[in-house]
Amino acid sequence: MTNTTAVKDPVCGMDVETATAAGRTEYKGQTYYFCGSKCKEKFALNPAQYLGKSAGTPKSGHGCCG
Ligand SMILES: [Zn+2]
Repeated sequence: MTNTTAVKDPVCGMDVETATAAGRTEYKGQTYYFCGSKCKEKFALNPAQYLGKSAGTPKSGHGCCG
């Protein structure tokens, strides 16, 4: 049995498994996971922008790494 943890990509809002995340970064002691390098780069540019929003409705489309 694999034991993975699903977390939300803070940039695009999609679910990402920590074991298979394409990117990760640490910010203020917390580790964030991303679906792709594009989202990681966006987050790195302005983390507060993505963390300031409450996690609500994920964007439909997820055009960040397609
Ligand atoms: Zn993403």
